[in-house]
Amino acid sequence: MPQSYVHEARRRVGPKRARILPIIERLASEHPDAKIALRYRSELELLVSVMLSAQTTDVNVNRVTGPLFEKYKRPEDYLAVPPEELERDIYATGFFRQKARALRATMAMLLEEFDGRVPRRLDDLVLLPGVARKTANVVAAELGNPQGIVVDTHVRRLSQRLGLTRQEDPIKIERDLQRLVPREHWGLFPHLLIWHGRRVCIARVPRCEHCAVNDLCPSSRV
Ligand code: SF4
Repeated sequence: MPQSYVHEARRRVGPKRARILPIIERLASEHPDAKIALRYRSELELLVSVMLSAQTTDVNVNRVTGPLFEKYKRPEDYLAVPPEELERDIYATGFFRQKARALRATMAMLLEEFDGRVPRRLDDLVLLPGVARKTANVVAAELGNPQGIVVDTHVRRLSQRLGLTRQEDPIKIERDLQRLVPREHWGLFPHLLIWHGRRVCIARVPRCEHCAVNDLCPSSRV
């Protein structure tokens, strides 16, 4: 895209600081159901679901965790079975060996360091084996204590298209968003972008004509 066109589009929509709240408000009214798609009933089930969701769909994870959570209710339960049995039980989520190893190591650490409870601080969550910053951010936000902003593939694409960041690296994108998005919206904001990304701002062909924020978006095609 020619630089002059990009510049003109940015000028047309105005500075991102002035656009961020209208973007949040409009997306919130467009997607009132925007929330995590993983099903869980406890902090432990949340942590396990998010760990299993790497490289697969939420639908797939929910299919596996239904029976899984009937069998494994406490951290001890994940350590009480042979590793191969846990691998079989999570097989359908893919990367099952790696995930089973991470789950067992995480459960051991929960028992040893955190009295068997899921910690709420991001700095503690990222210590758990197999829990990267994105996973930790999702868990902390769902526990009502967001300390960062989740950046997945949808958040990254939409933040760039909406002109909220020029970065490519998820950590730098998160930093840009943290400076821009008011803290009380850190938990909701990624869900809004994820749902908008699935329904409207689709990766290959964005449906700009049906987009509630097309007058605030420098990448709009209408
Ligand atoms: S206007 Fe188009 S590119 Fe911009 S957010 Fe909406 S769908 Fe995506």
